[in-house]
Amino acid sequence: MEARPVADAVKASAHADAQALAARGVRPCLAVMLIGDDPASRVYVGNKKRTCEELGLRSLNFELPDSTTQQELLALVRELNAREDVHGILCQLPLPAHLDEREIIEAIDPRKDVDGFHPSNVGHIMIGDYSFAPCTPAGVMELLRFYRIDVAGKRCVVVGRSNIVGKPMAMLLLHAHGTVTICHSRTPDLAGICREADILVAAVGKPRMITADMVKSGAVVIDVGMNRGDGKLCGDVDYDAVFPYASHITPVPGGVGVMTVAMLMRGTVEAAKRLSGLA
Ligand code: NDP
Repeated sequence: MEARPVADAVKASAHADAQALAARGVRPCLAVMLIGDDPASRVYVGNKKRTCEELGLRSLNFELPDSTTQQELLALVRELNAREDVHGILCQLPLPAHLDEREIIEAIDPRKDVDGFHPSNVGHIMIGDYSFAPCTPAGVMELLRFYRIDVAGKRCVVVGRSNIVGKPMAMLLLHAHGTVTICHSRTPDLAGICREADILVAAVGKPRMITADMVKSGAVVIDVGMNRGDGKLCGDVDYDAVFPYASHITPVPGGVGVMTVAMLMRGTVEAAKRLSGLA
């Protein structure tokens, strides 16, 4: 289940919309804050910047040292909130331990919260308003749509309950009329529950932990995991072992990750439209 053609279609439409906005004097702009020097975060931020440039979006990167204080970061967020030329703001997570992630996210203007992590946007997801759905779960839904995988009435199992992937993923599947189970580290008989899934989403952060015996024959398997343990990127699913049993399976790399960036571009363009009254 290749994600690149799907991501390319999303990016092409974001590009066309960005051009239409530029013709009306608005250049969509994404501001990204990176604090410290986590190598994986640096790769993700680099991808976001490069994709913005490819699609004609403006990209502002703020790379701040590990010693940045909460007050300094809050001051930057407020400055970006106030700037009319900035339409999307995101803070690359995780933050260094001395910073309060929640306070920073809550300081971002919800209208510019393209990650969809602000509590106000989380609430909107609960009631089915997707103005800012978190990019990774939104990307998974786009993949399912593209491959005409109907979620309605399906048994969906999401492994992982984080605020940025697991919980919103479950909510989007529920809104698409799936019957959804969320599993986590305290779930007994994880394998048995996974085997019931027609659509299985792994968002755990443990290399290849979803093994062939956990997958029902014909299931759709979506691997959100991005693990870099031994230098080589791998997912949460044992791809080679699960492949023969799955009707569809996303690879890592080349799967959900490329969708996340594409959805971020779409979100930034949509934010620019709304903020400039051109939606
Ligand atoms: P978190 O660490 O925040 O959450 C992991 C979840 O997995 C937790 O809910 C945890 O349960 C659960 N878990 C851990 N161990 C087990 C276990 N043995 N059995 C069942 N559940 C378990 O991670 P994220 O949600 O942020 O990310 C998950 C993965 O997705 C990571 O590999 C990350 O890199 C990747 N990711 C990929 C993105 C992409 O664009 N493709 C974007 C974002 C993340 P509990 O709550 O009980 O601790």
